[in-house]
Amino acid sequence: MNAPQIISLGCRMNIAESERMRAMLAGETDLVVVNSCAVTGEALRQTRQAIRRARAAHPAARLVVTGCAAEIDRAAIGAMPQVDGLVANAAKLDPRAWNVPGEAAPLAPARTRAFIAVQNGCDHACTFCVIPQGRGVSRSLPIAAVLREVETHCVAGAKEIVLTGVDLTSWGHDLAGAPGLGVLVRAILDAFPALPRLRLSSVDGIEIDAALFELLAHEPRVMPHLHLSLQHGADLILKRMKRRHSRADAVELVARLKALRPDVAVGADLIAGFPTEDEAHHAANLAIIDELDIVHAHIFPFSPRPGTPATRMPQVPRDVVKARAAELRARGAARRAAWLASLVGETLTVLAERDGSGYAPSYARVAVPDGTAAGTLVDVTVREVREGLLK
Ligand code: SF4
Repeated sequence: MNAPQIISLGCRMNIAESERMRAMLAGETDLVVVNSCAVTGEALRQTRQAIRRARAAHPAARLVVTGCAAEIDRAAIGAMPQVDGLVANAAKLDPRAWNVPGEAAPLAPARTRAFIAVQNGCDHACTFCVIPQGRGVSRSLPIAAVLREVETHCVAGAKEIVLTGVDLTSWGHDLAGAPGLGVLVRAILDAFPALPRLRLSSVDGIEIDAALFELLAHEPRVMPHLHLSLQHGADLILKRMKRRHSRADAVELVARLKALRPDVAVGADLIAGFPTEDEAHHAANLAIIDELDIVHAHIFPFSPRPGTPATRMPQVPRDVVKARAAELRARGAARRAAWLASLVGETLTVLAERDGSGYAPSYARVAVPDGTAAGTLVDVTVREVREGLLK
């Protein structure tokens, strides 16, 4: 086995970090790295499966696990016979942790879309979440460091920068003057006037600062795509989750934004079957998909995570959790299908990727003409929707 195998599970943070580990470990041989996830019981099951499969595929290689599972379930993962070693999440981009030369993991320049992790960790304590255990306290990448990363990707040809983080909208709170995320977005757009597209990954609506709202509402280079870490549509459940927003806050935010930018596409993370959730709470969860016009719905069946307060609350039976998740997915799919159908006849500017398709500003997936080079921005007039792809 020549080049190291980096297996990435979970979130965009892990994807961005895996790209940097790939560059940092390029000189290593017979090495398999599993960059793991433990956000849900299912994610942990997939991590274990990935470890077993990697060992079966590479019986003689050194297999090292990093990522949130290596933090949260350290003893259990470390005890797996397939595993040779663990590297702490906070050390995975440190060459010393891997005994390789260098000061820091080099950037892996992206040629189309570049994910930049500008924030890590989290200071909140949502009652269902283990991420703070896996990624530690919230910390921000200073503006100068972010601009250096943007430059590296733009020089390599990237046309879209995606800002990502664990709790993205808390970026800056630990920096001098506690700037809001809007300051960072403005700084990137000013420093790179030729950068066509900047996208935000998941944000906490209640933490959107005034400057960021203005950019989302009026700046054409900021993509009209708002993915909310919403989690639920019922206020009592939001309280029991220890979320910082109410249903009304989310409704008001989206209404205000859509009034200024009608083409903004809303996405949201929603949990089904949170402990104590009754039929009325579930109905409120279903209804918010329509009320916010959520066209990118990410539905998560509640998963009890060890050491979280939600695990000690009265649980909803698993079959009910699964049934409610299926209902939410069906509602989300219907909303999405209606939205995609409404785009027929529109001309969309698409950033082409290698597979013959790409994303529109609203994050709709669109087929591009044959032979369109990856990294090219191309206008496509939508004629039809086929299996969720605009053509
Ligand atoms: S904000 Fe809540 S859900 Fe998000 S990472 Fe922090 S604790 Fe977890």
